[in-house]
Amino acid sequence: MATATDISPAVRARYEPVIGLEVHVQLLTASKIFCSCSTRFGDPPNSNVCPVCLGLPGALPVLNRKAAEFATLAAMALNCRVNERSVFARKNYFYPDLPKGYQISQYDKPLAEFGYIEVKTNGGTKKIGITRVHLEEDAGKSLHDGFPDSADRTCLDLNRCGVPLIEIVSEPDLRSPDEAHEYLTRLKEIILYTAVSDCNMEEGSLRCDANVSVRPLGQEKFGTKTEVKNVNSFRFIRQALEYEIERQIAILESGGAIQQETRLYNADEGKTYGMRSKEEAHDYRYFPEPDLLPLVVDAAWQEQVRRTLPELPEARRARMVADYGITDYDAGVLTSAKALADQFEEAARGARNPKRVANLVQSELLGRLKAKGLEIEQSPISMRGVAMSADLVESGAISGKMLKELYDLAFERSQDFPAIYEKDKPQQITDAAAIEKIIDHVIAANPKQVEQYRAGKTTLKGFFVGQVMKTTKGQANPALVNELLEKKLAADERR
Ligand SMILES: [Zn+2]
Repeated sequence: MATATDISPAVRARYEPVIGLEVHVQLLTASKIFCSCSTRFGDPPNSNVCPVCLGLPGALPVLNRKAAEFATLAAMALNCRVNERSVFARKNYFYPDLPKGYQISQYDKPLAEFGYIEVKTNGGTKKIGITRVHLEEDAGKSLHDGFPDSADRTCLDLNRCGVPLIEIVSEPDLRSPDEAHEYLTRLKEIILYTAVSDCNMEEGSLRCDANVSVRPLGQEKFGTKTEVKNVNSFRFIRQALEYEIERQIAILESGGAIQQETRLYNADEGKTYGMRSKEEAHDYRYFPEPDLLPLVVDAAWQEQVRRTLPELPEARRARMVADYGITDYDAGVLTSAKALADQFEEAARGARNPKRVANLVQSELLGRLKAKGLEIEQSPISMRGVAMSADLVESGAISGKMLKELYDLAFERSQDFPAIYEKDKPQQITDAAAIEKIIDHVIAANPKQVEQYRAGKTTLKGFFVGQVMKTTKGQANPALVNELLEKKLAADERR
């Protein structure tokens, strides 16, 4: 980890960091927020533009209903109060990638306020307040390299102009880079569950700016903050915050003062650099957008959106622990992606014994994935495959030992369980006469246990099954062994 200075842990411990995050999330609408241009990523530069998103004189914006709906859904998932009436505003600034000279955003009347996310910290769970969620349009992209004349010129791609975003602003409730990391992880998870964004950081669908300051422990007043911008992974955000906190402490310790400014993080060096002094809100000369009516999300519409709110990750984890008897940790793994949790639950519900599916995931699947360094999404065995294998064990068609071997094969060949089972179905002894013979032998060799069994200690059946399986190297059909054993032990009794 890069550190700014050699400040000692003792000095570091005398200060408390205060962190607030601003997260921009791109909404997954097919068209832009105020025009019908496509939002598709990766199209040729400047191919998805029109007079509205180019800001040509006389062009008028029309709000995309879907964008408002998605933003409302996200706000609800973040426990916000949705304002029935919110107002679009012009945020004026000059930048080459903003052809209108202003961005349509929301200012003093945002779409939603007063939300929170619960995060896990060392001391348990903590509520991180969400100040607001508002709708706005994205700006274009400046392309600084990749062209023959990149040394002298910057190119512009305006395809992204007018792509719908929500900005999610947290309260300054975070007290460490770890908490910030956890907040972002939970936030992303919740947004992914609502499916209003793909949160793809490489494509810029999720971007994060961090406001950070430090104050002497026990002091109530916040210190002067800096804003760290455009960090493109959660890991880098944690690193950038670590660096920035130490940099600020070092300045204060040497008697200096923090400059309120915007800083950029250089991931290669692990350092932040001053970019510009931070604008105040009045620098943007916000005023209500005269070309758009206020956005009205009335009670009926809110209710309609609320009905589409899915079960959210935290609630789902708790329910899965209760329903399937799995651990908190495994519920966390299985709910890490909604698709995975859906697959698991679908498979588990369709299986004869849902708990066995959960057990197999824990005991046979996760360990093998870990050993191979694979994420669960990359598993060769699908949840459907796990369910099928669970049913086979349940019905006695295969033994636990055979299942392990088939799982090994599936991982070796990167094939799903049904395919492996079809091809390498274990040779089972299903010949009743052969099994009976073995049972006779086991009964003859264990007179004491037979006597106890007959006296009522029926739990000894497991012992006999084990003996038969041992003799057949686990290849006897378990269901048949059970059936025949019961018959034999009972038959002997009558003799
Ligand atoms: Zn357009």
